[in-house]
Amino acid sequence: MTRFRHAKIVATLGPATDSEAAIGSLFAAGADVFRFNLSHGSHDDHRRRYAAVRALEAQYGRPIAVLGDLQGPKLRLGALAGGELAIKAGDRLTLDLDTAPGGAKRIPLPHPEIFAALERGSELLVDDGKVRLRVLRAGKDRADVEVVAGTRLSDRKGVNLPGAVLPISALTEKDRRDLAFALELGCDWIALSFVQRPDDVAEAKKLVAGRAGVMAKLEKPAALDRLEEIVELSDAVMVARGDLGVEMPPESVPGQQKRIVRACRHAGKPVVVATQMLESMVSSPAPTRAEASDVATAIYDGADAVMLSAETAVGQYAAEAVAMMARIAAVVEADPIYRVQVHSVHETPEATSADAITAAARQVAETLGAAAIVTYTTSGSTTLRAARERPAAPIVCLTPRAATARRLALAWGVYPVITEDAHDFDDMVSRAVAVAAEAGFARPGDRIAITAGVPFGTPGATNLLSLARVPG
Ligand code: PGA
Ligand code: MN
Repeated sequence: MTRFRHAKIVATLGPATDSEAAIGSLFAAGADVFRFNLSHGSHDDHRRRYAAVRALEAQYGRPIAVLGDLQGPKLRLGALAGGELAIKAGDRLTLDLDTAPGGAKRIPLPHPEIFAALERGSELLVDDGKVRLRVLRAGKDRADVEVVAGTRLSDRKGVNLPGAVLPISALTEKDRRDLAFALELGCDWIALSFVQRPDDVAEAKKLVAGRAGVMAKLEKPAALDRLEEIVELSDAVMVARGDLGVEMPPESVPGQQKRIVRACRHAGKPVVVATQMLESMVSSPAPTRAEASDVATAIYDGADAVMLSAETAVGQYAAEAVAMMARIAAVVEADPIYRVQVHSVHETPEATSADAITAAARQVAETLGAAAIVTYTTSGSTTLRAARERPAAPIVCLTPRAATARRLALAWGVYPVITEDAHDFDDMVSRAVAVAAEAGFARPGDRIAITAGVPFGTPGATNLLSLARVPG
């Protein structure tokens, strides 16, 4: 089962897509990566879904990536007596650390680190920005605030502090438990929420220790101030527009999205554009024109993947949303403007043998109209460098490691296949030709470009570029 699509689709699983049949229909519609949102559902739910994904993988013989998304330090109000409170602009309230349910005058906010960061004039956003509170007086364990906008506060709503860098790790105690669980389960990618600084990524990478790729979710303005460093340390990045659009004005998000996608493409790190892409499809069988345009824009920009959240987790048209994304991607990728924007703009290769060889492979493939670029890889790094070139030809990734094949299911243009290392030169060529032909990328008479490293079978630098023809 081959998909002739460069951009990948990430689908979030949830109550609407809990059964094996539902997960299977998302895959059949075009999902390449399944996201497990660890903010919701029990470990047993995730374990069951994981088994369903791996069963699909075996059924179709195609590697599938599982992305375990950690909740991160999502800040929330405490409980309110009666569950909610009517408010209006001008109301004065006190926030404090007391865990007793809040009332008309005081609201519990069980996060000492927030009080440490507040000062007079700071703004707190509650419930995705629907409520704005301005600090009149800040203390160590309480703050007096004035309601700037909003009509209602309710139990445990999320709180954002735009601009503030809080003295907290991107990993809470819950995240540490969820991380251990996700790694034991076999997740291929781990997403870190609310990354604030490069150290957050470094800390997570140390804990993950190579067992999964680490994806930094960019949803804090502070992280954007150190974008290049964070991209450098991360294995992949998510443009997490949901929280980012609360932390900064929505009109600033599109430009930041482009800036992040560029930085990631420059570094050769997979980048996912996420949240509200086809939001109206949660309850409607067709997207708005603006949503279709949003997905298309991410594809035209050359993002590795586009993501569905509520659309597939709780939506009524989950498989239709995936199919819609796949159709938008197919139409964009067939557009001559896409070719000009994506295939003809190349990053400068770095002075490494992998970059020299993969850049040459792209060039050779273009000159000869080769049907595929086949990359032998152990860690996947050579294949990612080939993807950084954004070639017109599909990139076949041949790897003996299932973990590498699964991880690369996220990467732009990559068709991963698990196979033994080549034993010798003839084996390298015949195996590459057979896979490209079997997948449907190359027909008899077509040429393919192959990259590999000799001596064969020892992980190490790519140092060989070869051309082959499919016999026939
Ligand atoms: P979330 O992250 O769905 O876990 O909040 C994505 C976002 O904020 O856009
Ligand atoms: Mn978020």
